Amino acid sequence: MSNEFQAGRAFAQTLDAQDPLSSYRDKFHIPLTDSGKTSIYLCGNSLGLMPKAARQAVEAEMNAWADLGVCGYFKDGDPWVRFNENIREEMAAIVGACTTEVVLMNTLTVNLHLMMVSFYRPEGTRTKILVEENAFPSDRQAVNSQVAFHGYDPSDHVIEMQPRTDEHTICTEDILKTIEERGEEIALVMIGAVNYYSGQFFDLAEITKAAHEKGCLVGFDLAHAAGNIPMSLHDDDIDFAVWCNYKYLNGGPACPGGAFVHEKHTNGNATLKRFCGWWGEDLEERFKMTPDFVPSAGAAAWQLSNAAVFSLAPVRTSLKIFAEAGIEHLRDKSLRLSAYCMYLLDQVDAEFEILTPRDDAQRGAQVSILVHGKGREVFEALEAGGVICDWREPGVIRIAPVPLYNSYEDVYEFVEIFTQALGLSTVMKAAE
Ligand SMILES: *Cc1c(COP(=O)(O)O)cnc(C)c1O
Repeated sequence: MSNEFQAGRAFAQTLDAQDPLSSYRDKFHIPLTDSGKTSIYLCGNSLGLMPKAARQAVEAEMNAWADLGVCGYFKDGDPWVRFNENIREEMAAIVGACTTEVVLMNTLTVNLHLMMVSFYRPEGTRTKILVEENAFPSDRQAVNSQVAFHGYDPSDHVIEMQPRTDEHTICTEDILKTIEERGEEIALVMIGAVNYYSGQFFDLAEITKAAHEKGCLVGFDLAHAAGNIPMSLHDDDIDFAVWCNYKYLNGGPACPGGAFVHEKHTNGNATLKRFCGWWGEDLEERFKMTPDFVPSAGAAAWQLSNAAVFSLAPVRTSLKIFAEAGIEHLRDKSLRLSAYCMYLLDQVDAEFEILTPRDDAQRGAQVSILVHGKGREVFEALEAGGVICDWREPGVIRIAPVPLYNSYEDVYEFVEIFTQALGLSTVMKAAE
């Protein structure tokens, strides 16, 4: 892999010149530094950048509100009453689902709770939830509180997969082995598809297959996977998934997230329990205002309230960009960007470790770097150098070269500033 790259800025510029997706950068606002320079934005795993077209998309709905008032719900073309329904298709394509298996609503943690209401149904001796160590805190808080809500103690009802000694990522084999050995106790396997800390992407299909063989249900949190790695939720037979749309999907802070429910659970299954609200009711019935509940087809039945049109408008804008660029093409560039980043980092002669797996199948856009000792100093030097990235204790710098708006030269410049921050004057050995 690494001999496909060369050191030096000129090579980064060559890669950019050959990049078929390079024009997409211009569709986004890139934040400026205090001195007015374009920043090196490597934080799309936390908050994706604003598509330039988003402002106008929000304004169009504001105008509709001003001009039409309540009639906006039924306006011609794209009535608010169908606003989220009408963008499901583009969303479904990104996560590999059928259109009706997807719903855009709420935020991630809310959706995770709603899904666990339906899919964590502890019974008899099957009462536990399997999670990964170092899961995002909100996910653990949601899982622990669901377990406690059912009257169990999270300290022995949440089984946590650990990395092996001295390793930073979790072996899929170990997960499969735990499912094999303890599957009968496990009601639900709930794992972050891409771990937010290490950037590790798990084998969703293998985990799902093993869990189903043992009679467990399976859900994934796609917060760091949606819009990052193409998936096939339907074909992999995953029971449910939840995600947010403001990380790789650039929908704006706290915009509505997504949920996936496999159609096998909604086609004719009247026994599945869920929390209900009027917007989950079939549109034909919704405004008859009766207290009984006739569910919409598919995942839409989980939607409780009417759609947040103003914060969904940028999501729609962003999904159009994804549909145009193609998630598979984005993935190709993404893998190349992160491989290039690791190639450059490998030539920096200093004390740090790359936590993210090098195997293409096990990573997305993110590269997590554990800097021993002076991590915080390095992070501050990166900030001062115009790099926007992310810091996690005890010493992890996370960067996410995003294929829609990051260039190879961004990556080059990041590594250059990183190198200087480590106190090394020459950028890269091979560059000499
Ligand atoms: C970003 C993220 C969240 C955020 O949850 P919200 O409810 O959208 O605030 C939750 N879980 C994971 C794994 C995340 O990466």
